[in-house]
Amino acid sequence: MQIKLNNEDRLFREEVSTFTQNNLDPAVAERVKLGYYVDKEDEVSWTRSLNSKGWAAPHWPEACGGQDWSMIRRHLFDIEMRKAHAPTLQGFGFNMVGPAIAKYGTTEQRAEYLPKILNADQSWCQGYSEPQAGSDLASLRTQAVGDGDDYIVTGSKIWTSAAEKADMIFILVKTDIETKAQLGISFLLVDMKSPGILIEPILAFNGRRLWNQVFFDDVRVPKGNCLGEENKGWAVAKNLLGNERLMVSRVAENRRLLGRVTDIIRQEIQQGSDLGPAVEQKLAMLDIRLQALDATALRLLSRFDSGGSIGAEPSMLKLKGSQLIQDMDCLLFEVVTYYGLPLDSVQAERDPIGPDYADMIANGLFHHRGYTIAGGSSEVQHNIIAKLVLGL
Ligand SMILES: Cc1cc2nc3c(=O)[nH]c(=O)nc-3n(C[C@H](O)[C@H](O)[C@H](O)COP(=O)(O)OP(=O)(O)OC[C@H]3O[C@@H](n4cnc5c(N)ncnc54)[C@H](O)[C@@H]3O)c2cc1C
Repeated sequence: MQIKLNNEDRLFREEVSTFTQNNLDPAVAERVKLGYYVDKEDEVSWTRSLNSKGWAAPHWPEACGGQDWSMIRRHLFDIEMRKAHAPTLQGFGFNMVGPAIAKYGTTEQRAEYLPKILNADQSWCQGYSEPQAGSDLASLRTQAVGDGDDYIVTGSKIWTSAAEKADMIFILVKTDIETKAQLGISFLLVDMKSPGILIEPILAFNGRRLWNQVFFDDVRVPKGNCLGEENKGWAVAKNLLGNERLMVSRVAENRRLLGRVTDIIRQEIQQGSDLGPAVEQKLAMLDIRLQALDATALRLLSRFDSGGSIGAEPSMLKLKGSQLIQDMDCLLFEVVTYYGLPLDSVQAERDPIGPDYADMIANGLFHHRGYTIAGGSSEVQHNIIAKLVLGL
């Protein structure tokens, strides 16, 4: 099945493709293609190239430096970016807190933060989860108590990705412990250099620092750093998650990975591997699942763009997109067999034991397992689909 795009969309795709050909450093694209981590300076440089074209945050409002793109346009853009193996931009700033500041921020907050995010001058991390509050986020306990023009924040956040390199963190705190869960929560923008913040690393399967626990010990935060009204932070947090809810299908990422599986299978066959018909069948099945996912994503995005309500259906995209990417990884691993065994040769300071394309496959496979949990676990998505989509 092929989804037909109109002429304007086709021209847009060509424009994006030409832009990446002319501006993306081929050495950086090669690293992304092989699954290696991208250096900060390369990520910054690519962000600035996009920003100079007005494409760093095209989904933001025009008044804030964006392009006000429709969801469909953003979807097509993401697919072209992944196809070119462009580095992904820092999501916490561009996709989470940026749009929230654009919507809820005061004039001063917008002027202070948005240009810095767009130009990669300031990076962010997300402080939502706590040791006792993950899926049930509203039971969070980190507290902010008013003291003159400041809050005094005490508590801890966990699984905070990239906290060690972030300049700022956005956190949810209780500002009123008397009212019921969601009502007394506020959304604060906090400088990571504030006295009283301690960051402890949490290492991932490959020895890399993927997360952190961030402790707040009487941290002074100006009241002017509250985004939205005090005690109404839950609405900001829900809107922030809502911004990303429609982009959870991972169609672009899956499509890039499908291209990679296809390429690697071709190379293995050229080198004499007898992979047998089962591999081709699995590849065809992944392709069919991807096309079904893409069609569902496009259906929901176009409904949203035409002013329709979306409800709980993005939970299906989240579930299916994360399962598909994990099955792509499994097929990749099956094809390259033991050459895919080193978890992370860069981290281990060893040369790859086989072809370069096999080197980071196990790393990708384990990394993508986290997609089952991050952004709302599969069990929680199943509950939502059962209740709100299927009405069970
Ligand atoms: C790769 C990765 C990056 C992350 N980055 C960040 C970050 O930057 N900032 C941040 O704040 N958080 C981050 N997180 C944390 C993430 O948001 C939480 O892990 C997630 O919300 C789940 O919470 P939890 O770990 O406390 O698990 P819990 O909520 O305790 O869940 C434990 C288990 O119980 C199941 N479960 C829970 N509730 C139900 C229910 N009602 N019905 C059925 N089953 C249920 C879950 O599915 C899970 O299997 C990240 C997580 C991952 C994996």
